[in-house]
Amino acid sequence: MLERMKIALAGLTLNEIKELLPSGPQFRASQIFSWVARGITSFEEMTNIPLSLQNELKEKFCLFSSNVINRLEDGQTKKIVLSLKDEAKIESVLLSDGKKRLTACISTQVGCPAGCVFCKTGSLGFKRNLDCAEIVEQFLHLRNEKATGNSGHIIDNIVVMGMGEPLLNLPNLRKAILILNDKKGINFSLRRITISTCGICGGLFDLAQNGPVVRLALSLTTADEPLRRLLMPVTNANPLEKVKEYLLLYQRNGGGRITLEVPLFSQINCREKDADSIAEFAKGLDTVINIIPWNPVAELEFNGKPLAEPSEKEVKDFIQMLESRKLKVTKRLHKGRSVMGACGQLG
Ligand code: SF4
Repeated sequence: MLERMKIALAGLTLNEIKELLPSGPQFRASQIFSWVARGITSFEEMTNIPLSLQNELKEKFCLFSSNVINRLEDGQTKKIVLSLKDEAKIESVLLSDGKKRLTACISTQVGCPAGCVFCKTGSLGFKRNLDCAEIVEQFLHLRNEKATGNSGHIIDNIVVMGMGEPLLNLPNLRKAILILNDKKGINFSLRRITISTCGICGGLFDLAQNGPVVRLALSLTTADEPLRRLLMPVTNANPLEKVKEYLLLYQRNGGGRITLEVPLFSQINCREKDADSIAEFAKGLDTVINIIPWNPVAELEFNGKPLAEPSEKEVKDFIQMLESRKLKVTKRLHKGRSVMGACGQLG
């Protein structure tokens, strides 16, 4: 069978492997599932699987449907470029806190249909959703990468904040999270997975009703709706009033504190009016505001002018405006800029 037509084991649940097992007793499925979770790169590494079954597996399955074709590193950040079975390219990022902790930032789509004006991925347009295996494989690739570069370090957070809008690919993401979380496999805690969305009402409602209950971040940017419509066109079909209704539902149904991400641009969304609107939006929700001084992408414009990163004073003043409105605020440090691996720079 052609390599790219084979089924990628990383995208299968344990039950699916049981159903598709070509031969042998069912306990072999658990052994295979556990080998895949370890990120092995050849069937020969399945040392407790008989050679005959290894050969049968090779005929029908592949371990990875994607491969790493490029790596860029700047000490604290490593960006990998993956080539997918149809030759499409995506990027995933490993961020270090400078100690022993690593965060894996993974993508859910090739490109993105949301078209946020400040995001490089959004400027590329949309090609397709990633399938479940392509999502899980990013984690496995990043973990294999860190085994060579940061041995002893642990990936203790996954943020679904890479290329694409996760809630527009929720069925595949949901299954990928199920596989990542399976105790017999990768066993990654749901509490350490964050989905970041630009605020897609249908997806938020589905997530609030049907889970999984992971951490949630909303890329808010501003809650001044006319400005938000210009910066984030998805606002037209997903008004903030509805977004908030579903965030409240998510918290009523067991979801925890929501991070409201505010990428900050010079002279655009750092006005008193923006602080007022964010304070109003946050009322009744358990939130923390995360200020992200915008990471420059050369070709992006707003209102005919190049977008600019905010000055330190603009950032400081805006944080003060929010804090004076009794909001909890954190500021994200610049990470990964030199490898174009920071927020909004992928693509
Ligand atoms: S910020 Fe996120 S949702 Fe918006 S265009 Fe970029 S990838 Fe898509």
